[in-house]
Amino acid sequence: MFFMKRISSVFMLFFAIACNNAKHQEPVKNDSVTQISVTAYQQEVKGKKVDLYVLTNKNKMSVYVTNYGGRIVSVNVPNKSGSFTDVVLGYDSLKHYFDRKENYFGALIGRYGNRIAKGKFELDGKTYQLAINNAPNTLHGGPTGFHNQVWDAKQLDSQSLELSYVSKDMEEGYPGMLTVKVLYRLTDDNSIEISYQATTDKKTILNLTNHSYFNLNGAGSGTINDHLLTINADKFTPVDSTLIPTGVLADVAGTAFDFRKPRAIGDSVNSNSEQIKNGKGYDHNFVLNRKSVSDMELAATVYSKVSGIKLEVFTQEPGIQFYGGNFLDSSLLGKKELHYSFRTAFCLETQHFPDAPNRISFASTVLVPGKSYNTKTIYKFSVQ
Ligand code: BGC
Repeated sequence: MFFMKRISSVFMLFFAIACNNAKHQEPVKNDSVTQISVTAYQQEVKGKKVDLYVLTNKNKMSVYVTNYGGRIVSVNVPNKSGSFTDVVLGYDSLKHYFDRKENYFGALIGRYGNRIAKGKFELDGKTYQLAINNAPNTLHGGPTGFHNQVWDAKQLDSQSLELSYVSKDMEEGYPGMLTVKVLYRLTDDNSIEISYQATTDKKTILNLTNHSYFNLNGAGSGTINDHLLTINADKFTPVDSTLIPTGVLADVAGTAFDFRKPRAIGDSVNSNSEQIKNGKGYDHNFVLNRKSVSDMELAATVYSKVSGIKLEVFTQEPGIQFYGGNFLDSSLLGKKELHYSFRTAFCLETQHFPDAPNRISFASTVLVPGKSYNTKTIYKFSVQ
């Protein structure tokens, strides 16, 4: 167990680092385990100790997590060549989460994943104003949301890490002292299970998610346009030009949003549809087809024939945000100093719908004292 906690800086490299042409937009493989020096993560932030933890299963799949923002830093999964591919974007060093442009990589997002219109919502007749960090709206819990907090970490065993955080009453403008626990568990069937639990001492709103950016050919290996995506959704929530849902649940049939059968992400990503324009590509919430309100059900599948890696996302949540990396650009350097260019990663963020606090017709995100918020999402990897 103890040798799991500290990642050796000489963590074994299974295969030579694939050659990577930063500007190369063709799908290329980047099949290597990422080497990260633990000392690059050991630092005090806001008076608390930040560290890097590693979970490993019997198949030698490994998941690196830092308690800064509860971020997944690397996920090394078996590929069809018998080696491993690091399928998530991130940084080799903690400091880059502060000094590089994109700072949501792998993070736990709260209190409210996604957008709230104009940063305003009402609870029991009182209006709450949040920070506007994505003008004119609030995004992902605000500037000092959970992605920028130091969580308390307890490694329970070689395959699970418990993170906890207490968010003060009115932190980032949200009412109630909120006590949150997130359990990351790597199982022997190559799944990452993320279990979220929270309680509050005052009525509040809550919508937690994880913001991993995936590329099944390896982080920094080029476009994801060739990845085949399936989303189990007949409907999605169209947005205005500020990415706030209009309130309509629109049919995906006959649109660029129809992923009910496996379809290349790049197929319609440049289509002329108003929705694609509003999102600058895909940046939309899908209304998951659910058999039950809260059972664990398959929400989405992504497959890359280049690496042979398949990702299945299971969730208890009613929605999933499919974001196609439209705001990434080649100036962004990630792990191994590889360029994380435009649309070279996708996110599948399980969630309640964006702006639900202002939409009575969307499932409620209100949490009251005495009730426990419990939800789980699984990212399962296999080779095909
Ligand atoms: C949002 C995008 C945003 C990205 C930031 C996604 O969840 O939908 O609009 O740019 O997060 O990383």
